[in-house]
Amino acid sequence: MTEIKSLTIQELKEELAAMGEKPFRAGQIFKWLHGGVESFEEMSNLSKDLRARLAERFILTVPQVARKQVSQVDGTVKYLWRLRDGDCVESVLMHYEHGVSVCVSTQVGCRMGCKFCASGLNGLKRHLSAGEILDEVLFMQKDSGETVSNIVLMGTGEPLDNYDNVLKFLHLVSCPEGVNIGQRHISLSTSGIADKIEKLAGEKLQITLSVSLHAPDDETRSSIMPVNDAYPVERLMRACRYYFDTTGRRISYEYMMARDKTDRPWQAEKLASLLRGRPAHVNLIPLNEVAESPLRPSRPETVRRFQQALEKRGVTATVRRKLGPDIDAACGQLRRRELQKQQDTGRF
Ligand code: SF4
Repeated sequence: MTEIKSLTIQELKEELAAMGEKPFRAGQIFKWLHGGVESFEEMSNLSKDLRARLAERFILTVPQVARKQVSQVDGTVKYLWRLRDGDCVESVLMHYEHGVSVCVSTQVGCRMGCKFCASGLNGLKRHLSAGEILDEVLFMQKDSGETVSNIVLMGTGEPLDNYDNVLKFLHLVSCPEGVNIGQRHISLSTSGIADKIEKLAGEKLQITLSVSLHAPDDETRSSIMPVNDAYPVERLMRACRYYFDTTGRRISYEYMMARDKTDRPWQAEKLASLLRGRPAHVNLIPLNEVAESPLRPSRPETVRRFQQALEKRGVTATVRRKLGPDIDAACGQLRRRELQKQQDTGRF
């Protein structure tokens, strides 16, 4: 059976035509779906017969809240969703001055194996469908009662490793007939799959591309991000230049500050020289400690000095505010704990 929320409005029209229904029904159903209905029964402007036929023909995914943590400090909410097959994924809702931002997962687990990340420790379980990624947005809106204005694809998973579903999600979530979040309010974060960055450039999207660079030299980067063996720094930067030349959209670079690993003065210099002459923005991220990793966060004064060194060389850099400091902030930790619990009780 087809997951109905993974269908575009056009595909829905075609499905309805095949069922002998009028095309305008597609708009009505799409609206209900994007409003977060939990059953076809709730679609009160459709006949009983049509609702029953939809239920026979389509799967309506409804994620359940398996766990929810709310920060007492800044109201950040972290969700662990249980999907229809029992798999779990995390999403986060954050409050900023400019509105509500959500961070969504694109895969169950991840195969990229970054050393500082709890999400990749158990490898990739499966891709999320476009509808399941959309569900994270819809059900955070529904649960919180707040309107989401920005989305970052920065939760568990490498979005470009689930390319087709992620691309479809981007079209679904920005569709004016649905939840309608403009592409300029969406950021996609990648660990640096260079050929997929080049492919994405050709899609002519308005989203912001965010590249997790984390180290400016191959030796350090390969030691914390295995993806660097396939796409070394020079290859990645070439893809980034192509992306900018094709789309005209400035790239944002994520740079994790790990003590005595990525925060040395020569690395600031090298990073600045990599980005010289490119429209770029660097986000310095204080490392979230993961128990299984030996990496430790840089000292605050080192982060400040690193930022100053970049700015002195003409590169704009900001230090990311730590959200929800009193909840499990590091991506993947809630799911990992849930997996542990299932293993302990023999459910996994
Ligand atoms: S940081 Fe992102 S790409 Fe790397 S292992 Fe974690 S989820 Fe995957």
